[in-house]
Amino acid sequence: MELKILHMYPDLLNLYGDRGNIIVLERRARWRGIKVEVLNFTRDREEDIENADIIFLGGGSDREQELIFSHMIKFRDILKDLIEENIVFLAICGGYQLLGDYYLDACGNKIDGLSILNFYTKAEKGRLIGNILIEVDLPIYPKTLVGFENHGGRTYHNYKSLGKVIKGYGNNGKDFTEGIIYKNLIGTYLHGPLLSKNPHLADYIIKKALERKYNVEIDLPKLNDKEEFWAHYRIMRRILKEGGR
Ligand code: GLN
Repeated sequence: MELKILHMYPDLLNLYGDRGNIIVLERRARWRGIKVEVLNFTRDREEDIENADIIFLGGGSDREQELIFSHMIKFRDILKDLIEENIVFLAICGGYQLLGDYYLDACGNKIDGLSILNFYTKAEKGRLIGNILIEVDLPIYPKTLVGFENHGGRTYHNYKSLGKVIKGYGNNGKDFTEGIIYKNLIGTYLHGPLLSKNPHLADYIIKKALERKYNVEIDLPKLNDKEEFWAHYRIMRRILKEGGR
């Protein structure tokens, strides 16, 4: 078996080590004997999106988002079609925001989104920064995800959220939702990188991508995740001890 991971705009969207998510997916697949090819999609090198089994879009500043939109809009229809055809897509923070209709930045500038999904983001007073713990409604165990968030934008949508905020802010610091799930697309504000302390989510993503590509049910062989889950629960305990939201 093999997987092609398309990393979109690695040169521009890579806040808080988001590139680490690619490394986790690559290693966890390779450790199971799955061949992995990572294609870096940039403004100068437009790799074939249709070839991808997993698409990854990291986080970035408002400025990078604006820069990327003017290039990424050319691929809006193919990305929307692939998402509708259940491609596995992971978008972090700014990358997540770009999939919506628009992002109103802190100066009131409207940064257009790809309108692949119908939601909006608007920056409000103060940034939502800190460690975050959420509980997800996905067929994974444990049901918790830990990460770090830092965003000015508050996202509002009516889709299924990735999870419920236990501690932290999430989509908007108001409705206790975090992220978005639509078919095999996951959007989230969790940086960290997300997958290094949440190996169970990484395996869910690999499994979904293989199942879609080979049209068979996949049961990934277990890995020794002692260190990964030590980190997961250590951060979880630290977050639960922290004051605040
Ligand atoms: N620029 C966006 C915001 O501030 C996203 C930031 C990020 O990707 N961490 O909300």
